[in-house]
Amino acid sequence: MTSAATTGALWRTQSFERLRTEPFDLLVIGGGITGAGIARDAALRGLRTALLERDDFASGTSSRSSRLVHGGVRYLEHGYLHLVFEASRERRTLLCIAPHLVRPVRFTWPFYRGARLAPWKVVAGLWLYDLLALFRNVGQHKTLSATRVLQTEPALQRTNLAGGATYWDAATDDARLTVANVLDASTHGAVVLNHADVTDLVIENGRAVGARGVDRMSGTPFDVRARGIVNATGPWTDTVRAMEGNATKTGVRGTKGVHIAVPAERVGNQEAITVISSVDQRVMFVLPGATHTIIGTTDTPTHDSPEQVRANQADVNYLLDSANAYFPAARLTPGDVVAAWAGIRPLIATDTSAPTAQASREHAIATGPAGVIQITGGKLTTYRAMAAQVTDAVQRALGEPRSACRTADLPLPPVGEEFACTVADILVRRTSTAFDTRDHGRNEAPSVARRLGDLFNWDAARCGQAVVDYATEVDRLFTIDP
Ligand SMILES: Cc1cc2nc3c(=O)[nH]c(=O)nc-3n(C[C@H](O)[C@H](O)[C@H](O)COP(=O)(O)OP(=O)(O)OC[C@H]3O[C@@H](n4cnc5c(N)ncnc54)[C@H](O)[C@@H]3O)c2cc1C
Repeated sequence: MTSAATTGALWRTQSFERLRTEPFDLLVIGGGITGAGIARDAALRGLRTALLERDDFASGTSSRSSRLVHGGVRYLEHGYLHLVFEASRERRTLLCIAPHLVRPVRFTWPFYRGARLAPWKVVAGLWLYDLLALFRNVGQHKTLSATRVLQTEPALQRTNLAGGATYWDAATDDARLTVANVLDASTHGAVVLNHADVTDLVIENGRAVGARGVDRMSGTPFDVRARGIVNATGPWTDTVRAMEGNATKTGVRGTKGVHIAVPAERVGNQEAITVISSVDQRVMFVLPGATHTIIGTTDTPTHDSPEQVRANQADVNYLLDSANAYFPAARLTPGDVVAAWAGIRPLIATDTSAPTAQASREHAIATGPAGVIQITGGKLTTYRAMAAQVTDAVQRALGEPRSACRTADLPLPPVGEEFACTVADILVRRTSTAFDTRDHGRNEAPSVARRLGDLFNWDAARCGQAVVDYATEVDRLFTIDP
């Protein structure tokens, strides 16, 4: 277990005391990657910052991504060149400031005769991909003969294989990247609290000047006042907009993305692979995970609540069918699925007529009627750039001179089990146990609860309840709906 400074009952008591008594320049609502990045940037610029997260840091979309820090090769098809340029730059930055969390990954893209994208188009796209990275990616793409593709990936479907290419992106641990940002925000003076739900905004003379909420660990209500407020709640954006009286038009268009983990030896992939799904011709990935192969993702419009979103059998079948077409010996069935999980992409609600896979992954910053600054859209990869723009907007709104953003140069800290308060915080987000095991960590839950009990002075009944709560959380996240 990590240092008592960032865990345990005393730390939470002191943080709530600071929340109650200190004046804040900025309150950030939402502790996914977006809110965590903003809190870090603002704290580094000297703003007195508070970050409140209703569940755990990264418990929303930011622990359900494909865990790629990528330029977004598939966005080239839809012409989002500026997005690829920005994401490529951010990939380079994150590889420098967080080499312990972001590592280069080589992808193989096999070409098949008759595929939706002709090989020459993919190769042209990969030249453009390298160009938009200013040829400063870890490595540049290479075209391969079919024989060379099979030397690297012998389990791939051989029929109609015409060749392939390799290119470079990067992979991360999304939840730990988020916690690293929270930790650094805290180190630079921000008050950061998970399990602290904002239930309403305090509006005086038409301006949002604070928030009310509840500490979900103790049930205790709290108030906080701040000169500026940012809504960084991803798929929950419209709920917080409604608190501001801004419910007229939706700010977020939710699309559901599902991944499955299956035994790596069944699939037989050696590295990361980009394929075009044989089911609906979308670009998707077969990725080497810590212990399994991860296959993803789907991309379907959804009105599911972000709390309840999870995979269904149709999602799982789509991913299995797509993978089986490329790895015929795998013959994957639903019984092979170790874990299936879903997240909601908080896309900006423009152009709702476009298929979701083609919808822009850009972000948008807007100010609501009571002055709350809202950030929607974007991706994990571009969080740092988004945070810099939001912090600039906050300083403008506060009438302060814009100070230099420091997040592109300062390294992110290594992370431990910081801020963990529940068994799920540890087994789902500080470690990937829940994603890697068929029982999703249920066996480990009692010992984790006992360790947490030592930190929070829980009695046996409370430890027992923590285990029960974990089982409920596992059902919520990993049950596959019919
Ligand atoms: C399937 C899938 C795959 C993806 N893969 C990639 C990828 O490989 N690479 C990439 O760059 N991007 C990827 N993305 C996109 C990326 O994951 C998201 O853009 C990003 O995680 C969104 O982060 P966020 O902080 O905006 O939202 P979230 O992570 O959802 O954070 C919002 C937070 O706000 C909190 N909150 C809500 N209401 C309140 C309240 N009232 N009070 C306090 N807190 C509140 C929530 O609990 C939540 O933790 C993927 C997305 C999906 C769905």
